[in-house]
Amino acid sequence: MLLSSTQVADLNRFDLLVIGGGAAGFMGAITAAEAGVARVMVLEATADPLAKVRLSGGGRCNVTHACWDPTELTGYYPRGQKPLRGPFSRFAPGDAVAWFADHGLELVAEPDGRLFPKQNRSSAVVQCLRQAASCSGVTVRTTTAVQTLQRCGDRHFRVLCRGGEMFSAEHVLLATGGHPSGRRLVSSLGHHVIAPVPSLFTLALDEPVLSACSGVALDDVALTLQVHSDRFRQVGRVLITHWGLSGPATLRLTAFAARALRESRYRGELRVSWFGMTPQAELIEAMRQLRRDVPKRTLAAARPWPQRLPRRLWLGMLNAAGVSTDLRWSDCPARVEQSLIQQLDQSRFQVKGRGPFGEEFVTAGGVDLGEVNLATMESRLVPGFYLAGEVLDIDGVTGGFNFQHCWTSGWLAGEAIAAAII
Ligand SMILES: Cc1cc2nc3c(=O)[nH]c(=O)nc-3n(C[C@H](O)[C@H](O)[C@H](O)COP(=O)(O)OP(=O)(O)OC[C@H]3O[C@@H](n4cnc5c(N)ncnc54)[C@H](O)[C@@H]3O)c2cc1C
Repeated sequence: MLLSSTQVADLNRFDLLVIGGGAAGFMGAITAAEAGVARVMVLEATADPLAKVRLSGGGRCNVTHACWDPTELTGYYPRGQKPLRGPFSRFAPGDAVAWFADHGLELVAEPDGRLFPKQNRSSAVVQCLRQAASCSGVTVRTTTAVQTLQRCGDRHFRVLCRGGEMFSAEHVLLATGGHPSGRRLVSSLGHHVIAPVPSLFTLALDEPVLSACSGVALDDVALTLQVHSDRFRQVGRVLITHWGLSGPATLRLTAFAARALRESRYRGELRVSWFGMTPQAELIEAMRQLRRDVPKRTLAAARPWPQRLPRRLWLGMLNAAGVSTDLRWSDCPARVEQSLIQQLDQSRFQVKGRGPFGEEFVTAGGVDLGEVNLATMESRLVPGFYLAGEVLDIDGVTGGFNFQHCWTSGWLAGEAIAAAII
């Protein structure tokens, strides 16, 4: 049977077209469909929707974080901190936990607050989202890359895909993550995109002493990074690597300093307080105690706080201070003791670049938040056009915060689109 041109046009007409089949796009599509929007289609460029969810959290998917207070939650977002207060007061991690439970997926918290699927596999999250999409009647079109997005008249969008296929809809949700094609599409509609820069990376330091301690991890280390006139500080676990520093505190530090570091070409001064939460007076007392209690032992054999200070790091500090490991505590000159206290309290390193990789690969940058109504995720420039997820100038530190803003923005967009249509 041959279809008339009107019937063909009808086949390609939707209430909502979602561009990008990732976390934010699926959440938006499912929310709208469950609220009653009839014809919803997700257009996904690759053959594998939700690929990043599958890859995430080392194959376990850190879905969100057990942080229940919206104001505290915003503190984990170097970009988007203040603007996210409103969205998180509507859909926060507690709502995400309940949403997944309602869709048959239980999330379990680890002692540090990160929430993972009970099955401990990211495929369980992918399966949950795909099933929810299918049950709510969402169509998912894979290997369909959107090339052009046009606004035609007052309430109508035309979407042209690679290969020439065309779709139209009254509402479009763009959720293309950090992909450059998404940024081109939003720019074509007149939006301003803040240039993307890497976030969440490790630091390469010019320091042979540290490379000898590769593999050593310490808790409660205070990091202070000076980049030109900007200063950034984080306290937490660090991991010494053969190229510099990694670990959660380092990743948090580089997330907050992402733009400043980019502008300085990844140069700056890092001060490391290995016992960040310990007052200097206690460090001085620990040294005096060694001198008093074990005067005949060498500096290499007896070190302050042996439970907390790894031997390899202490030997590295002796080496950096030019101190013989055979020196006895009773013979240790005051200036050497002072230099060791200085190393423990304020080791200084020059940052010489980014380390080879981060833990969660997110970009800082994206669509300017001033151009989006964050109560609905609708563009302030183009009515009927919505944005969600990483395409926005929002990014979080590691721990499930990046997915959380995808769930939040996707859900808000889906709700608002449904309210506009029904
Ligand atoms: C290795 C890794 C591990 C991570 N682990 C975690 C974690 O455990 N917890 C956490 O919170 N965050 C994690 N993140 C970050 C998290 O994955 C992202 O923040 C999140 O996936 C962003 O979701 P999104 O839906 O905005 O974009 P994406 O997941 O990137 O989805 C966008 C989709 O749009 C498609 N697309 C792009 N352009 C077009 C186009 N023109 N037409 C059609 N389709 C298009 C893409 O193919 C893609 O499928 C991790 C990231 C990486 C890379």
